[in-house]
Amino acid sequence: MHLTKIEIQGFKTFAKKTTLSFLPPTTERCPITAVVGPNGSGKSNLADAIRWVLGEQSLKLLRGKQSEDVIFSGSEGKGRAGFAEVSLTMNNEDGSMPIEYGSITITRRLFRDGTSEYLLNDSKVRLTDIQLLLAQANVGQRSYSVVGQGMIDHILISTPEERKAFFDDATGVKPYQIKRHEAVLKLKRTHENLADVEMLLREIEPRLRSLKRQASRLEQRDEIEQSLHLQEAQYYGHGWWTLADQLDIVKKDFDRADLDIKRERAELVEQEKAADAIEVVDEKEDTGLMKLQEAYRNVQRKQNALRQDQFQTEKEIELTRVRAQSNWAPLPLLKIVEEVGSITDGLKGLRSLKDIETIYTTIDELLSRSSTLRKKLERPNPEDIKPDPKLVQKLADLKGQEVGIKQELLDFETQIDAYATKEKTERTELIEMQKALREKQRQIHLFENRRNELQINLARFEERQQALIREMNEFMKDRAVEVRSTRPAEPLNQADQVYQEIQRLRYKLELIGGIDPEILKEYEETRVRHEFLDGQVDDLKKAIRDTEKVIVELDTQIEQQSKAVFGKINKEFEHYFKLLFGGGSCRLVKLTREDVEEESLSDGVTPDRAFADTGEEARDKEAEIAKKLEKHQDPVMGIDIQATPPGKKLKALNLLSGGERALTSIALISAIMAVNPSPFVLLDEVDAALDESNTVRFAGILQELSKNSQFIVVTHNRATMEQADVMYGVTMTDEGISQLISVHLEDIANGATARR
Ligand code: ATP
Repeated sequence: MHLTKIEIQGFKTFAKKTTLSFLPPTTERCPITAVVGPNGSGKSNLADAIRWVLGEQSLKLLRGKQSEDVIFSGSEGKGRAGFAEVSLTMNNEDGSMPIEYGSITITRRLFRDGTSEYLLNDSKVRLTDIQLLLAQANVGQRSYSVVGQGMIDHILISTPEERKAFFDDATGVKPYQIKRHEAVLKLKRTHENLADVEMLLREIEPRLRSLKRQASRLEQRDEIEQSLHLQEAQYYGHGWWTLADQLDIVKKDFDRADLDIKRERAELVEQEKAADAIEVVDEKEDTGLMKLQEAYRNVQRKQNALRQDQFQTEKEIELTRVRAQSNWAPLPLLKIVEEVGSITDGLKGLRSLKDIETIYTTIDELLSRSSTLRKKLERPNPEDIKPDPKLVQKLADLKGQEVGIKQELLDFETQIDAYATKEKTERTELIEMQKALREKQRQIHLFENRRNELQINLARFEERQQALIREMNEFMKDRAVEVRSTRPAEPLNQADQVYQEIQRLRYKLELIGGIDPEILKEYEETRVRHEFLDGQVDDLKKAIRDTEKVIVELDTQIEQQSKAVFGKINKEFEHYFKLLFGGGSCRLVKLTREDVEEESLSDGVTPDRAFADTGEEARDKEAEIAKKLEKHQDPVMGIDIQATPPGKKLKALNLLSGGERALTSIALISAIMAVNPSPFVLLDEVDAALDESNTVRFAGILQELSKNSQFIVVTHNRATMEQADVMYGVTMTDEGISQLISVHLEDIANGATARR
């Protein structure tokens, strides 16, 4: 890879569009370009332009105070520029940069309003993309690819940490460093995300637990309800169908009794007709008997009416009793437990005889409450089944009247029998018939009595059935219909035990109480969210492990490469040092975290300030994450340089003379160039402090290194200029604008002149 051209417009003194072209490399070496010109003509601005387009962010290195300082600020003859733009075109046919373009142009543009952009072959890109690409091609933009004016000994006066950045470039580990940096940032973000997700998890966990408890109570409630429904279906099914069967039998008996009565009545009517026929014949003969019989029948009718009345009264009394029984509702167990508890509590605390009056009153009150509770618990409540006293009185009166009527009838029968005996011979037939009639009427009475009893029974069963329907509807709701329409396959034994179980289950349900069904929905949602967050935690932990693995791999690569290259640089450093100084010794030393901390301490800088202090109280979370990332800190913190010119004792770098410092720096940069050549290097007056013989040595080194790197040298030095293949002269116009004149030295040798 090599530079083909630089185009500058609006950048510092290069107000107008200026292009600097470079010669392509030959098979032996890369041509050296020298930039010459008077002081202040803008040569260093050219170096700044290259540094800037490569992504330099340091205003200090760019010799400005604010970013707009790089834009041409105008002169007496020319107004200021609206923007600065520098494009660097490189030949990438050898694929040094891993993208498919054979020619790559990197452009940086900055407008006065502060907007800036980076372009890669005219497409907008991020600075990091450019940095990574350059690092992959081994262009160290911050360090040795552009060595600014007066910056040659910068490497010597900089801190060990700054030097480390320089050597990261030099050892070619920068691409890994960039990737590593990104991985560490990613790791930090992932740790932050993990902390957030874990916090969310911690927040929803208590709610989830509470919801889970409620949901399981709801499930328990469901189970109990299912069991209750089953037992209710069995119990009420059994009750319903047993009652239905009984009702059926009573109905049939009643119908039969009714038929019997009808039949007997029909027979009675026939018999009466026959008796009436005989009576008509005897009418005139015996009106006395007839009157007697007439009176007898009247009494019989009276008796019938009385019986009917009596039956109605009995029926009413019975129905009152049945209703009271079926309306009796058992007191809920919870209430019973509460009342018994409250009665027992009432007895507590009555210990002192001083309160004897209170004790008496309390005992009386508790006795009365106990007896009320007992009455409520008895089934049926005896208070409730007392029939209406009026009805009872009426029934007693009716029964009293009936006794009288029966006596009256007996009297009539005795009189009639007396007639019968008297007129036995003449009236045998009629008397027999009348006897038969009486017998038939007695029979009818018997049947009527039976039918009345059956009717009372029927009413009783029907009332029970209604009560059962009410109870079933109340407890079973819609399920009751099914139970009443399907006869159970199996009979139910021990119905009482089943009823007890039903009561127990109802009590349990009462204890569990009602639960909002929305809870289940919320539980499900919270559970799914919890599961999702849990999954996220797993994913994030996996991502952390993966990223940590990547960092470890990169660390290994960095370490291996750095170790190998660092050793070579050290060797070459010594070689060039000796070459430039004609002897002496030098060494590069890696400093660990502890070494740097010690050094900082001796400088009065605490390690806390150097590495951790962010100027504000770190929050717990950040501190935690920082702790987790600690192990991923680079173990090598800085680089120390030791240099002893020949015949001198090893002394601190800042005690070296200006020239010695320049020579040491040149030796170091040359060593790096030799081991890890940058495709191009701009050296801005690095030879300024060298004496003549050292300038010649430097020129020799430059020639040697130009085998692998393309050099652009800003110089006032003749010996250096002599090494150049192309020379650009920079001049400053009256308008304060830099101008370029290119001089191909080969052309000059061939008699040509400089051209603009
Ligand atoms: P020397 O040989 O003395 O090192 P040089 O050729 O390297 O000189 P530079 O440092 O490149 O000179 O140029 C400095 C000049 O550029 C100064 O005169 C300065 O005023 C001018 N300059 C710097 N920034 C701007 C700018 N934004 N607009 C216009 N002129 C600028």
